[in-house]
Amino acid sequence: VLRIDNIRKSYGDLEVLKGISFDIHQHEVVALLGPSGSGKSTLMRCVNLLEQVNDGQIWLGDTDITDPAIKQDDIRARIGVVFQQFNLFPHMNVLNNVTLAARKVHHWDKNRANERAMELLERIGMGARAKAFPDQLSGGQQQRVAICRALMTNPELLLLDEITSALDPMLVGEVLDMVRELKEQGTTILMATHEMSFAHDAADRVVLLRKGVIAENGTPEEVMDNSQDPQTREFFSHFR
Ligand code: ATP
Ligand code: MG
Repeated sequence: VLRIDNIRKSYGDLEVLKGISFDIHQHEVVALLGPSGSGKSTLMRCVNLLEQVNDGQIWLGDTDITDPAIKQDDIRARIGVVFQQFNLFPHMNVLNNVTLAARKVHHWDKNRANERAMELLERIGMGARAKAFPDQLSGGQQQRVAICRALMTNPELLLLDEITSALDPMLVGEVLDMVRELKEQGTTILMATHEMSFAHDAADRVVLLRKGVIAENGTPEEVMDNSQDPQTREFFSHFR
C-alpha cells in the first residue's frame, strides 16, 4: 500500500528524517515508535503531504505522492488522518464535522455524505449523537468521531498520530478498542504511539525511529522483547 523510499526532511539546518525507508502492506498495522523528537510526526506529515520531503519518494500504490505535479486532494482522499488534538470544529455538530471534507473538498452531495457518515457513526454506537456538538462529547468520543471522519472516503491507509496522548487515561481504552476493530476489518494503519502495550498486542510490525533513522523494523516480539541493540533495549526498558 505504502512504500517510503529513502526520504529526507530538514527544517532549516535541522535534519529530522535522515533517509527513511520502509513499506506498509495491505491490512497491516504498523506502530511507529520512538522518543519524543525522533521524527514520527514529521514522517506522518510527509506521508499526508502536510510537509514536502527534501529527497526520496513516497509511493501510495502506484502513485509517487512526492511528485510535485500530484493532485493533493486526490491523495488526501486516499489517506485518512487523525492527530493528537481533537480536530473537530466546535461550532459544527458531529454529522457536519464528519461530512465536511467529503462535501467541501471531495464534492460529495449531501445525501451521500450523510449516509456514509451515519453508517460509520452507527458502527461505533454514536449514531444517536450525530446532532451533538463536540463539547457535549467525551474526549474519547470526540477522537472516535475524528476517526470516522478520516474513514469517510474509505482510504487505503489510515495515519494515527498519538491519538490517545491528550486523553484522560480512562478514555484511552475505548479509542484503542476502535483501532483494534478497524484492524480486524482489515484497515491498513500506520500509528505513532507511546502506548507500548497496545503496540505490542495489536501491531503486526513495529518501526522504531531514533534521531531520524530507523533503528528497528520487525515484529513486536523481535523489536520490543528480543532486540540485541543496547539502545533499543534501553528505550523499551522505560515502559516495563
Ligand atoms: P513526539 O513523540 O514528541 O510527538 P516526534 O517523534 O513526533 O515527537 P517530530 O514532531 O517529528 O517528533 O519532531 C522531530 C524534530 O523536528 C524535533 O526536533 C522538532 O523540534 C522538529 N520540528 C518538528 N516540526 C518542526 C517545524 N515545523 N519547524 C522546525 N522544526 C520542527
Ligand atoms: Mg509527534
